[in-house]
Amino acid sequence: MSDRFAPSKIVCVGRNYRAHAKELGNEVPSEPLLFLKPPSALIAHGDAIVLPRESARVEHEGELAVVIGKRARRVRPEDVAEFIAGYTVANDVTARDLQRKDVQFTRGKGFDTFCPVGPSIVRARPSPDASITVKVNGAVRQHGFLRDMVFSIDVLVAFISDVMTLEPGDLILTGTPEGVGPLVHGDTVEVSIDSVGTLTNTVRTEA
Ligand code: ZN
Repeated sequence: MSDRFAPSKIVCVGRNYRAHAKELGNEVPSEPLLFLKPPSALIAHGDAIVLPRESARVEHEGELAVVIGKRARRVRPEDVAEFIAGYTVANDVTARDLQRKDVQFTRGKGFDTFCPVGPSIVRARPSPDASITVKVNGAVRQHGFLRDMVFSIDVLVAFISDVMTLEPGDLILTGTPEGVGPLVHGDTVEVSIDSVGTLTNTVRTEA
């Protein structure tokens, strides 16, 4: 992923896998639950996730990311495919304690380095049967299938485009399957999605 990759916004979807909503004690929402991560949170494949001193509980959330290819406003689900440039892998890193404390997600999801994305953008949409797996130091933490999304890619992009104009390069993180867990100094976290790639990042405390 280029250093100049600079989305105008990163739109995230919460509770889009039933089992993950449940593990955090939440219901599946009746409409997609949206929040934003700031572009300043972006890091690339191979970069370090930095644990901020404000949080005692930072967790991984492996997710499929959609990269917008064409300005999109009030797009219908059946037309969404032509507005997508490709797909990549993301980690919606979350300070779970701060997310709970604040209720609003901005701080818990918004720290610098909390949005690793990469390693590359693939054009073809992954199959619904593609699996998404997160490993920490080689041990499987999260495992699920894209078909388990509550709201599909097409429904999500259409829904978001009814709220805000999507620009080329904008990223949409489509939610995480169950198994989220903590990251600590020295960890290596890998997010893999069949046919899309494996995103690898190290973890360190703030200097
Ligand atoms: Zn997430």
